[in-house]
Amino acid sequence: MTAQLTKISTVAIVGGVHGNEFSGIYLERRYRAEPELVKRSSFSVTTLLANPQAHQANKRYLHSDLNRQFKTADLANPDLTNYEQSRAKVINAQLGPKGAAKTDFIIDLHNTTSNMGPCLILTQPGRLYNLLAAYVKMKMPSAVISRDEDHFAAEDHALLCTVGTYGVIVEVGPQPQSVLRQDVLEQMHEMTQHILDFIELYNTDQLPVLPKRVEAIRYLRSIKLPMNAAGERIGMVHKNVQDRDYQPIAPGAPIFTLFDGTEVPYDGSETVYPTFINEAAYYDNNLAMSLNEKVWIELE
Ligand SMILES: [Zn+2]
Repeated sequence: MTAQLTKISTVAIVGGVHGNEFSGIYLERRYRAEPELVKRSSFSVTTLLANPQAHQANKRYLHSDLNRQFKTADLANPDLTNYEQSRAKVINAQLGPKGAAKTDFIIDLHNTTSNMGPCLILTQPGRLYNLLAAYVKMKMPSAVISRDEDHFAAEDHALLCTVGTYGVIVEVGPQPQSVLRQDVLEQMHEMTQHILDFIELYNTDQLPVLPKRVEAIRYLRSIKLPMNAAGERIGMVHKNVQDRDYQPIAPGAPIFTLFDGTEVPYDGSETVYPTFINEAAYYDNNLAMSLNEKVWIELE
């Protein structure tokens, strides 16, 4: 622990990247009204409602998913001009620019309709993230740490949180679209507070003794709902899998049920751990769930 710490001076808390995920929208509003809730001594905090028009329309997005618009090449592409593509450029100017950002750390607040509880999603590797994962898991044992394609360079990530020098996603469910649940809101608030506390302790070199290793999941791939050759859905997520995010699916276990009653087994060769099971927002792409492996984050 002799390495010189690089301080986090500027933090942005972002809500409403998806206009119908209400916890982050209401939490951002609350933090704007009561800035003392997010104030810490060693850094400044700004908040941002990312997609106000989608929220106004009570939709995830108007023209395209805002959280898929932040690849460095897309941000520089003048031909991408629909509402969300334009918003991405505005947000990049405000919080970034990506690669040389004025924002040191972005906390991006999201909801899922899946039964994922409080999940901290890390899209980049590195010591700071490992320390954060250990701290959040220690303070909030119900939290799940997820590594999501953190082998990709930041410039190739399309997620808003990759605009900052550092960035994470706080993903909490289950919450239906356009609905506010108190339990989910409280979990999002708690995890956000732990992240802010972590940054304060990190900046002031006062981190407590942390566990040496932290269990996490790591994204492998997404799988689609059963479809016929015409692209029509012919089945659904199996009832044994529904709501059982993070619970192991072994090879051969039923994963889908076709509308004619036929059970479809999981055809992979290794046990996997599902997330975003039956996520409502992914139906437009016919995605059934994400599959993950279990990994350990080692702190050294
Ligand atoms: Zn979202």
